[in-house]
Amino acid sequence: MNTKNSKLFVDDFMNYVRAKDPGQPEFHQAVHEVVESLADFLLDNPRYRHTQILERMVEAERIIQFRVPWMDDRGKIHINRGYRVEMNSAIGPYKGGLRFHPTVNQSILKFLAFEQVLKNSLTSLPMGGGKGGSDFDPKNKSDNEVMRFCQSFMTELSRHIGPYSDVPAGDIGVGGREIGFLFGQYKRIRNEFTGVLTGKGVEWGGSLIRPEATGYGAVYFAKEMMKTRGESFKGKVVAVSGSGNVAQFATEKVIELGGKVVTLSDSSGSIYDPEGIDRDKLNYVMELKNVHRGRIKEYADKYAVQYMEKQRPWIVKCDVALPCATENELNLEEAKMLIGNGCFVVAEGANMPSTEEAVHYFLEKQILYGPGKAANAGGVAVSGLEMTQNSMRIAWSREEVDTKLHSIMCNIHEMCMKYGKEKSEFTNYVKGANIAGFVKVANSMMAQGLV
Ligand code: NDP
Repeated sequence: MNTKNSKLFVDDFMNYVRAKDPGQPEFHQAVHEVVESLADFLLDNPRYRHTQILERMVEAERIIQFRVPWMDDRGKIHINRGYRVEMNSAIGPYKGGLRFHPTVNQSILKFLAFEQVLKNSLTSLPMGGGKGGSDFDPKNKSDNEVMRFCQSFMTELSRHIGPYSDVPAGDIGVGGREIGFLFGQYKRIRNEFTGVLTGKGVEWGGSLIRPEATGYGAVYFAKEMMKTRGESFKGKVVAVSGSGNVAQFATEKVIELGGKVVTLSDSSGSIYDPEGIDRDKLNYVMELKNVHRGRIKEYADKYAVQYMEKQRPWIVKCDVALPCATENELNLEEAKMLIGNGCFVVAEGANMPSTEEAVHYFLEKQILYGPGKAANAGGVAVSGLEMTQNSMRIAWSREEVDTKLHSIMCNIHEMCMKYGKEKSEFTNYVKGANIAGFVKVANSMMAQGLV
């Protein structure tokens, strides 16, 4: 290893990326993390540099941007912006979620799409990487408004996707309701019933365990990490952020494995329940968030526990932290607080929830840190299984899908260990995930020539 050369390599590459795409901080952050952990490997394997694989990987194969006009319930017209970033198709059709959130822009979608390429490769399933969405905010919209928006969005998107080219799924702001409206419109326009979206309802082509997959998968991954130190979830205090899809099912799995989840959050604040969120309380959260679309503060009111307005959960004492809300929701100060309070496991259900400084701190302190592209790959893995079931026109049982999900997460953990184990026996899961994800995509790109 040559630290000086690696640093030069990283700096040169980042200058190249920043010059090409100024003003895309989230994309730069995601690329920087990957290039930092790949630098030594690339210097030792010049064939990847001679073929400019990394330069090709940071350039999306295609980015589609489009107008999404729609009318609200009062007859007022709104114009949103829709996107699909088709990042890399070396190992399969573009695959990745759609996000509906006011913060959505090209930088965020490119960071997510870039991460997705490596994540999908890690699952060992044949899926390329993409991401899309809109700056539409589904909060405080009626079901009819959401439906009209989804129909308008899909009217354009349907020209660019298909079961063999690009298969979107859900992400922040896109759950079962939105996937239903999007699928209905796609089917109407194209007159075909195909597996063009994943996360569908089980009655119409969806896979069992898909809603649970990201949260369950993140906990399975954390469980594997803990096993390497002879630890388990039993009796552990767990801080979870978010209260959406990923947070809910991560909480469910932790409860099942004997851990105690003491926090949840949304963009307004966090709740702290030192007694732990049990099955009944979790059912309440699911109803509150998925049916009534309420705020997490209502949990604090109902169960008379502490509500921390505008605060994130990381100030509470815990053994395990599962960030499951959004990007950059855990900074250096919070990382220090977590470790100072005895936290020794961080597994990311969300994408890039820890800032770069926080990640460096976790690695320096050698805690068990599982980055999102490994820890949250269970969602897209089961999306891949949904695609397989759609193609074969069969439906696997809950147990079959869960067993496959569990074994995929164990396999990802093993690959991270293979490429991330350091001389000190510490496993750097960031490095492991990045190299393992990269090698398969890079080799496929080289085999397919300069395209
Ligand atoms: P949901 O929309 O179901 O839930 C998102 C949660 O995060 C909500 O509690 C939301 O609060 C909170 N949140 C969103 N934006 C912010 C913000 N800016 N600040 C604080 N809190 C925020 O999304 P998911 O659970 O599906 O996704 C959560 C994370 O997991 C994302 O990073 C996503 O990319 C990642 N992920 C999701 C997968 C999936 O299968 N769904 C797969 C892999 C990764 P509020 O209601 O107030 O907005």
